[in-house]
Amino acid sequence: MINRVKGTQDLLDLALFNYLGEKVKKQFEIYNFTEISTPILEPLDLYVRSLGEETDVIKKEMYLVKGDTKESGSSEEVICLRPEGTASTVRAFVENNIINTPWKVFSIGPMFRHERPQKGRYRQFHQINIEIIGSKAIEQDVQLIKMLDRLFFETLAIESYALLINFLGCIEDRKKFKLILSTFLESKIATICSTCKVRKDKNSMRIFDCKNDSCTALYQEAPAIVDCLCDGCKLEWQSILDNLEHLSVSYSIKKTLVRGLDYYSKTVFEFVSPDLGAQNAFCGGGRYDQLALEIGAKEDQPSVGAAIGIERLMLVLDAAKDRLLMPQKMPLYIIMPMAKEQHALALLLADELQAQKLCCDILLEDDSVKSKMRKANKMGAKFVIIVGEDEQRNRMVTLKNMITGSEEKIAQSTLVAYLK
Ligand code: AMP
Repeated sequence: MINRVKGTQDLLDLALFNYLGEKVKKQFEIYNFTEISTPILEPLDLYVRSLGEETDVIKKEMYLVKGDTKESGSSEEVICLRPEGTASTVRAFVENNIINTPWKVFSIGPMFRHERPQKGRYRQFHQINIEIIGSKAIEQDVQLIKMLDRLFFETLAIESYALLINFLGCIEDRKKFKLILSTFLESKIATICSTCKVRKDKNSMRIFDCKNDSCTALYQEAPAIVDCLCDGCKLEWQSILDNLEHLSVSYSIKKTLVRGLDYYSKTVFEFVSPDLGAQNAFCGGGRYDQLALEIGAKEDQPSVGAAIGIERLMLVLDAAKDRLLMPQKMPLYIIMPMAKEQHALALLLADELQAQKLCCDILLEDDSVKSKMRKANKMGAKFVIIVGEDEQRNRMVTLKNMITGSEEKIAQSTLVAYLK
């Protein structure tokens, strides 16, 4: 047998997945976002430049694809499966010369990361990406967070989750903070793990992503970036917190929240759920003021965005599925011809029901009546429409109500009207 690739999933019922997609689309429309779609294949360089060479995603999680030959020359362009949505949305913004900013867009689709699979962590997963490109107004961050909070709390009725938030300041703030952090790490060098030792020299703020218990405990006492902000950033950070309160959004400040990717500046946030285990974030985002320049934009395009992990959101919703008003399935009518001679009639009757938008299926397999009835029951039929030799001759059908068990004979010509 050929099995699916490790870390991928077969989604055998897309009802909840599609329901989420519909809810999200409606919600984002209210906030004036437009749905877009970008390719799954992108140049590897796009992510190396934007996420940062020292990030886990670039160092060990990229799926490379045999590439195309560059049109201009003979060297091969390295192509990859996209690991996230922000870089490609910014690339699309730059490449398509979008001039009307802020560009408020969202997209839904699969992402690929070669991570160690576990609950809530897959190698192919789906994200809903939301981006506001070309706005330095910090209130955009607040509105984006409020929209997400409303989606989770009001629309999807998720009860137990928390919003964690932090502020990474501007480039200057981070430069200043990295020096202070290095001094702290030097003083603890004997206690930190080997990965953190490497990160200390290469990209010190990433030590906060360490999962090692003793390191995490130690970093609780580490200096906080929010204490190193310049006056302008201090005001913006305070204004975010004030405005979240104005809009009744509850939050917790997590001073070690840095998020794994290099492009973040200023606001970073995560929505986490206690129902998810180790991988507890089902949505994460933040501001990325330098990314567009990094990707080749002529001007600075300060931006903010977020990504919701659909599989994790589905895990969070699993417990509360009954509270969701998912669309009801249509009632199912099953036509049961008694023998091969009634198959043509069954096809005609089914065609008539389907033309009238009634959900209908035919049991065409050569089974006993008993097992056909059992099958119809398992399929959740509301009525079974039996057509045997008698019924065929008299232009009738026998209608069995699968809930009450009662049976009656009606004329074939009145079947649609009766069911409707
Ligand atoms: P990131 O792009 O890393 O900021 O992740 C944004 C969101 O995508 C996370 O909060 C998760 O919900 C989801 N996510 C990230 N990586 C994975 C993965 N390997 N499997 C499933 N969901 C993921």
